[in-house]
Amino acid sequence: MREQALQQLRDVFGYGEFRGQQADIIDQVACGGDALVLMPTGGGKSLCYQVPGLLRQGLTVVVSPLIALMDDQVATLNELGLRAAALNSTLSEDAQREIARQMRAGELEFLYLAPERLLKPRTIAFLQSLQIALIAIDEAHCVSQWGHDFRPEYLQLGQLAEQFPGVPRMALTATADERTRAEMAQRLKLEQAACFISGFDRPNIFYRIVPKDKPRQQLQAFLREHRGNAGIVYCLSRRKVEDTAAWLCDQGWPALPYHAGLPAELRANHQKRFLNEEGLIMVATIAFGMGIDKSNVRFVAHLDLPKSVEAYYQETGRAGRDGLPADAWMAYGLQDVLMLNQIMAGSEGDERHKRIERHKLDAMLALCELTSCRRQTLLGYFGETLPEPCGNCDNCLEPVDTWDGSEAARMALSTIYRSGQRYGVGHLIDILLGRDNEKVRNAGHQHLSTWGIGKGLGENEWRSVFRQLIARALVEIDLDGYGSLRLAESCRALLRGEESLQLRRDVSKPSSSGTRSSNKPVIAEADRELWEALRARRKQLADAHGVPPYVIFPDSTLVDMLRQRPTTLQDMSLVSGVGSHKLERYGADFLQVLGGEGAQADNETRDAHEALALVLAGMTAEQAAAQLGQPLRKVYGQLAQGISTGNLTLEQAIDIGPAQLERIQDHFLNHDSDELPGVRTVARELDEPIEEGVLHCIRAALVQEISG
Ligand code: ADP
Ligand code: ZN
Repeated sequence: MREQALQQLRDVFGYGEFRGQQADIIDQVACGGDALVLMPTGGGKSLCYQVPGLLRQGLTVVVSPLIALMDDQVATLNELGLRAAALNSTLSEDAQREIARQMRAGELEFLYLAPERLLKPRTIAFLQSLQIALIAIDEAHCVSQWGHDFRPEYLQLGQLAEQFPGVPRMALTATADERTRAEMAQRLKLEQAACFISGFDRPNIFYRIVPKDKPRQQLQAFLREHRGNAGIVYCLSRRKVEDTAAWLCDQGWPALPYHAGLPAELRANHQKRFLNEEGLIMVATIAFGMGIDKSNVRFVAHLDLPKSVEAYYQETGRAGRDGLPADAWMAYGLQDVLMLNQIMAGSEGDERHKRIERHKLDAMLALCELTSCRRQTLLGYFGETLPEPCGNCDNCLEPVDTWDGSEAARMALSTIYRSGQRYGVGHLIDILLGRDNEKVRNAGHQHLSTWGIGKGLGENEWRSVFRQLIARALVEIDLDGYGSLRLAESCRALLRGEESLQLRRDVSKPSSSGTRSSNKPVIAEADRELWEALRARRKQLADAHGVPPYVIFPDSTLVDMLRQRPTTLQDMSLVSGVGSHKLERYGADFLQVLGGEGAQADNETRDAHEALALVLAGMTAEQAAAQLGQPLRKVYGQLAQGISTGNLTLEQAIDIGPAQLERIQDHFLNHDSDELPGVRTVARELDEPIEEGVLHCIRAALVQEISG
């Protein structure tokens, strides 16, 4: 089995070796066993069911929670030359019937559907009449009632065990706390399944957390390190999302807002643009999350503090799915803590619930103020130990400067105490700095013994001291919602002088406030130009096929092309991620960009010229294909290309009646999005049989018309 699996991996997917536990998982399922797979984002879960799906006879059924996710997966599989379809409510009756026909005829290898669809008695009965290779339940944590992605329909998926006896089932997720895992196994009836747990580490993500100073400037400095890259900027409120996005646009950054308060079409449009275009910055609340399958998100920036380490891990985890270096950057300040506290104070829920939330926030704060390796603590939080500091986080790279803050801390603590534990940071700092304002006078605080004793430090330094006292739980924020501080039990030893306190020294020079990201740029300067050319070609092909660019090739494949510089199709086949189908489809295109005028590429160009010439001379595409001994699909591809470059008109390329043409064009144009739908989408909607290549040509002509 292993041999065959490896052969599929190389031939179909174009990868050299399995990663981590992939081979074991595939072995287990391909031989008919059940599996529970916990693997971090970007770990390569899809292959774990796709390869056994190919090795076993019959249809592989994949349960997935979101239509957007399904479409992406289906497009990816189709690009690999595999036969996959998604069954969902957005399809026309006819399109659904066609998929059913394909299933019955055994023409489909993978079927994606949402649980509510799968669980319909009719669907179950239909699937029972077919040969099913395996059932994969993706995003299986949706079955957990404790998680944030809970989907009630997932609860019933357990019944598949009885409905499909003998069919191997597997559940996959990137969420893996103990509780969710147990719940998944129990509810999905996978208690007996082999369990494969990979670590939580995302080694390619560089973590950096900087004290918030001038957040917009800091963000901008960070973004300059990422010019041309796609990324997400998370903000807490909708208002801030809009303000930040507008401001970034003013500064010349390609930014889009996203939050649950925007009209649904606009939101969908922004999401689609983020997936389909290169280098966009999505400024978003956490409403922008699951369903983001884009593999080349190069950075995630937080302008506000997430409310727990789990949230931080999940949000930053959207960066770097492709395994290439990615950045998780955050600016955090005292204000964040106060704000989250206020939200918590105002939230529903009992005391116990609030206490739990508070503990989660405390853990997040501790991560922020850490002076040692971030990754060690982050993984530690999930019960995993990293024996050595990681060498790929800010604290590992630039050891933190600390100072003895014992004396300053004592001053701060006694000021809190003497003023009655009823005031917020601003007022406390006024007292320490000996300010003589109205609020101080009204309270008579100019008479306190600590009034003016803190002049040795500046306002910002005091903020830093208070922030760290809170983060270390020496001081508590009152849950009254006003941000009053009071002493925590744990500060006694420090107050009495029995303990000392080392504090982080905040560095606030912009040059060193965290603008330097991971020290390994994805692309060397010298390769920039070629890289952009490869991306441009990929975008062109993606548009022509109506799929997102990363579905054509992930960034990691383009990077490998830069590294290997293939000059022949033979070399090209050795590039990571170039399987046989993509080699045939795109190999020559990319060889051309790489400048390797390999013999094969020349052949391709010559073929294209010939096809064009024959059609211009009056042959139909079918005749040209026969004459050249080429597949019809390929000839149409060349004709579509000819239309794009203006060397051929649509009328010359295809031969269909005006009424039918108009009907098809309407299908392309009647989608309410900025971009034309892909050929496959339209093919599905049409209730008439039509060569896909013809649709490619019609689409190319429309694109040409619209953009020209
Ligand atoms: P997950 O679903 O676990 O987040 P994916 O299945 O999307 O991860 O895989 C992440 C990326 O890694 C994809 O681009 C995928 O093609 C790639 N990948 C998966 N397995 C391998 C492998 N064995 N070798 C190289 N790349 C791989
Ligand atoms: Zn580290």
